[in-house]
Amino acid sequence: MATYHSSRGRSPEIGFGDTLLGGLAPDGGLYLPTTWPELPTTEGDYASIATAVMAPFVADTIGLDDFGSMVEDAYATFSDPQVCPLVEVEPGHHLLELFHGPTLAFKDVALQLLGRLFDHELERRDQRVTIVGATSGDTGSAAMDAVRDRDRVDIVILFPKGRTSEVQRRQMTTLDAPNVHAVAVDGTFDDCQDLVKAMFADEAFRSRVGLSAVNSINWARVMAQIVYYVWAAQQLDRRDTPTTFCVPTGNFGNVFAGHCARRMGLPIERLLVASNTNDILTRLIHTGTMTAEAVVPTLSPSMDIQISSNLERLLFELLGANGPATAELLTDFRATGSASLRPEQHAELIAGFTGGRLDDTETLDVIRDIHDSTGMLVEPHTAVGIGVARRLRRVDETVVTLATAHPAKFPDAVEQATGVRPPLPSHLADLYERTERVTDLPNDLAIVEDFVDSVRRR
Ligand SMILES: *Cc1c(COP(=O)(O)O)cnc(C)c1O
Repeated sequence: MATYHSSRGRSPEIGFGDTLLGGLAPDGGLYLPTTWPELPTTEGDYASIATAVMAPFVADTIGLDDFGSMVEDAYATFSDPQVCPLVEVEPGHHLLELFHGPTLAFKDVALQLLGRLFDHELERRDQRVTIVGATSGDTGSAAMDAVRDRDRVDIVILFPKGRTSEVQRRQMTTLDAPNVHAVAVDGTFDDCQDLVKAMFADEAFRSRVGLSAVNSINWARVMAQIVYYVWAAQQLDRRDTPTTFCVPTGNFGNVFAGHCARRMGLPIERLLVASNTNDILTRLIHTGTMTAEAVVPTLSPSMDIQISSNLERLLFELLGANGPATAELLTDFRATGSASLRPEQHAELIAGFTGGRLDDTETLDVIRDIHDSTGMLVEPHTAVGIGVARRLRRVDETVVTLATAHPAKFPDAVEQATGVRPPLPSHLADLYERTERVTDLPNDLAIVEDFVDSVRRR
């Protein structure tokens, strides 16, 4: 039975249900499994592999039959029967398409399952929660779609009015479900984030509405992402032969899931960490030192991150599961803006990970080149991955690059590079005709709190 411990080593071990609903550990750390289960040898369709790979992580909380049906349900929302199909872009270089979920980004793979797990665990505990979040674009719609129509969850997502793309706004405002609420705040993304932080800091409000989050530090999100590494290896008939994966990276959640798959026994040759101009991770891999710099906006906005929250999990692993040492390294980093690994820790990092970066011009070049050579349209995050994979790939190395979003999610950059505007897939083709439902609110904590309290179901 899996238990979970904190990356800072000063919180009690807990079970799966508590990590699912709990977010950060009380000591400020992130939860990881205390021991790593071995991968099952199960073969079959995506849902069967997913159920078998994740079963040991949830065994203390959820019965296997219930879990299997939640997994089936979650991946039935994907428009491709393979769920995450593989496509060869050039000999030996494959794309793993993770964007066939309801909101066209890879976050659906984890969040569609998370919504169902939340409902199940809340039912068992006879509790309700209200999820509040801020979004600059993509995560909001994925979270809203994941909990739509769930009985025990209400969700309110704040976004900066007039500052998201029209596709992004419509994906949030046209969801026709009674428990889902989009709020356009008269302010910036930072204002929205500050409002969310202030709501979490308001103890009375927090307990009155049962405030909760589905952010990228939730262990269950990482867990759900382990599956597609195993799936890809099976599709390529490489469950026993090492494969290299290239992962476009922001918060490091996705590539950390690859590390977990390797910990569980999947033969992975190398994990290529692909960054845009915001390349703190690539610099850490190259130099052994992480130094924060200002965030620069790029064509791949979901990777415009300097402090990757999931990096803490990897540091904990590199430091031999030493929580206090991890806490100390992070405290140094927060205080001075810089922290270094010891030589043996750095050696271990580069044994498992290689880093590369692409700037916007190089990203557009990749999008154009892939279109010219294959006729395929790829969006900027995926293009960063493809470009880094091409640059770092060794002769005869089989590489799988993770395709993290559908081209129609970032149509402007795709059109800029290729002259072709990617069409929305059929399940979203009428997005521009759907009725929008959105509440405009001022950047005012009391007013936003009143709104949240008034829309949640009791
Ligand atoms: C969130 C996101 C990423 C970054 O994923 P992490 O797990 O944060 O590293 C990359 N591409 C797209 C399209 C995303 O939405």
